[in-house]
Amino acid sequence: MVTRPNETPPQEFNPWLHVCSLIESAGELLGLDEGMLKRIIAPERVLEVAVPIRMDSGEVAMYTGWRIQHDTSRGPGKGGIRFHPSVNADEIAALSADMSIKCAVVNIPYGGAKGGVAVDPALLSRAELERLTRRYAFSIAPMIGPDRDIPAPDINTDTQVMSWIMDTVSMLRGQNTPGVVTGKPLAIGGTLGHAGATSLGVTICTAAILQRMGRLANEQRVVIQGYGKVGAPLVKLLSDRGMKIVGIADIRGAIHVPEGINHLRLAEHVAEAGTVVGYPGAELVPADLLFTLPSDIAIPAALGGFVTEDIAKSMSASIMVEAANGPTTGEGAAVLASRNIPVVPDVLANAGGVVASYFEWAQDLQGFMWERELFQQRLEKTMHESFNHIWARHKDLNVTLRETAIAVGVERIAEATELRGLFP
Ligand code: NAD
Repeated sequence: MVTRPNETPPQEFNPWLHVCSLIESAGELLGLDEGMLKRIIAPERVLEVAVPIRMDSGEVAMYTGWRIQHDTSRGPGKGGIRFHPSVNADEIAALSADMSIKCAVVNIPYGGAKGGVAVDPALLSRAELERLTRRYAFSIAPMIGPDRDIPAPDINTDTQVMSWIMDTVSMLRGQNTPGVVTGKPLAIGGTLGHAGATSLGVTICTAAILQRMGRLANEQRVVIQGYGKVGAPLVKLLSDRGMKIVGIADIRGAIHVPEGINHLRLAEHVAEAGTVVGYPGAELVPADLLFTLPSDIAIPAALGGFVTEDIAKSMSASIMVEAANGPTTGEGAAVLASRNIPVVPDVLANAGGVVASYFEWAQDLQGFMWERELFQQRLEKTMHESFNHIWARHKDLNVTLRETAIAVGVERIAEATELRGLFP
């Protein structure tokens, strides 16, 4: 369960305690007083719900779900919903705090939240998945809404799951409520440009750090872990900017192509084979050796916790851009810092997705849909400005980009908390 850091931390990596220590370090850097720090760390609301559903067989199965609002001082909570067997309260709390920081880093008017159900959706039929989604949405409905907390897709949830949540809440309230979730299909209040927005933000951050380091895009070799909603568009976007993608991994294995992967041929291959493995002419390499392949930029775009101390020590690249959420352990981050490898942290690098969600929500509230060009122009502007701000502050503060980004996020949350005062 979600607890405050104490003197006897558990032996195993605990994402919630990890994020608490990152916020505490930021507080120290900023000179925040203890009362403010306590208020920023503690999640505002933690809801645990039982999710019983009738299976197709007629039996009743029971799952557990959560929705956690970490901080809403800057605006309604914002954060995805994940369906995964390993989901638990500590993980959701940590991810909700990450969202508070991420929304503050890109300066959009949201707080942070996250939700999930401990379930393997691959074991459910489509009808069972719909019943699970609707029952979970019903149970968290008192806590969510366009002015309270706005969920979005995350691991194993997609536009269809968002449609069911939007419909369940709309039925409950007796009115169409598109602004209750983002990442919806276009036909029911989604936005042009949402798909691929995270990858576009990662690409902008990659290009920006190359420029700051005086390096040319067309001289960069890139390795990417993950070929999913984020990784696949990245292969095209980075290739379009002249970078050579020399290694990619998915859950089935890793491939190495020193002369560079053709994004169209890879997309065709994956459409047929269902995996990057077997791409014509590629050498198959063990997945944990992907980041040792000769390269200049490493991009984790799959799981949390992949970049451990060992992976960081053996990494060939001299820049890392975090497309995944929480891909680097504390020990991994320390090794990268000691090797002077700059890391564009997740709260900045993958924030394009939540910026896109903000634009979708704004359109739903206005009832006025934007053209794709306007969406893209505003997304690019927000990501450029955010990167530039974090870069400038990191030069002033003389700490890593990650420490800077967390400090900037915490500083903005503290400012809002201070201005609003302490109720009652
Ligand atoms: P996804 O499920 O679409 O794709 C995940 C990819 O990772 C797949 O190619 C899968 O095969 C691969 N993978 C899984 N386990 C692996 C393993 N052990 N080794 C190598 N590859 C493995 O997920 P996604 O939406 O692309 O998200 C990827 C990461 O980006 C996650 O950390 C997610 O939280 C983060 N993220 C996603 C978005 C978004 O807009 N989708 C936004 C912000 C952050």
